[in-house]
Amino acid sequence: MARLTRFAPSPTGPLHLGHAYAALIAAERGDRFLVRIEDIDRTRCKPAYAAQIFDDLHWLGLTWDLPVMRQSQRQAAYDAALDQLSAQGLTYCCTCTRADIRAALSAPQEGVDGPIYPGTCRDAHHDSGAVRLNMAKAAKLLPDLSFTETGTHPARYKINPAQLIQSSGDVILSRRDIGVAYHLAVVVDDAAQGITEVTRGQDLLDATPLQVALQHLLALPTPIYHHHALIRDDQGKRLAKRDDARALAKYRAEGATPADIRRMIGL
Ligand code: GLU
Ligand code: ZN
Repeated sequence: MARLTRFAPSPTGPLHLGHAYAALIAAERGDRFLVRIEDIDRTRCKPAYAAQIFDDLHWLGLTWDLPVMRQSQRQAAYDAALDQLSAQGLTYCCTCTRADIRAALSAPQEGVDGPIYPGTCRDAHHDSGAVRLNMAKAAKLLPDLSFTETGTHPARYKINPAQLIQSSGDVILSRRDIGVAYHLAVVVDDAAQGITEVTRGQDLLDATPLQVALQHLLALPTPIYHHHALIRDDQGKRLAKRDDARALAKYRAEGATPADIRRMIGL
């Protein structure tokens, strides 16, 4: 089977060395390589950054199959997935603010999306608000799951659905201001693009069991995962997109070649 991989940047800033690494790994591992612009958060994403991303990727010598998927144009697909989950009785609306959630938690337990939601709105029957997944209910429907990881910690990872109640809890699937949340969008879009191997930074390994559970609830295939090491700066600090000092554009302006970039990130 042809291997389909993708690079899925959010256009919230210039690409830096860490992104170059992620894109090159994805392109190298795929027979076909796709790009997806993760621009659901319109307050943080800018078209100019997407244009700069394409320019930087071309400069690195990468080409990809068209069309580029843009999450900002995918709301109908996200709504269909939300309907599918709600038809199974697995969703509810939540009107809590961040402050409400903090106030309801005496000893917040950190999950993949921040503090585990205390469940305040679970039986409140609100008809609008953020949409959450009822994880306890979902866990009852889910069989034991697993996924294959081929990255820095290769293994066949087993997922005990009951454990997702503690590690993820009632995650947000759709926000009030944005019609979808990351975990749902990524699962829907990887399936729509036919991705067979998800390559991405190791920081997302912890989110994978939740995403595999969503795939199962939506009857979508589970791809292979390849979580790669994160490129860090000299102090060992993870490179963030806002860290413009490491922007590829800056190295380009200083006369670096694509080969120099590959050397700097150890490829
Ligand atoms: N858009 C995410 C990022 O920029 C990547 C999501 C993924 O690869 O699953 O970090
Ligand atoms: Zn709530």
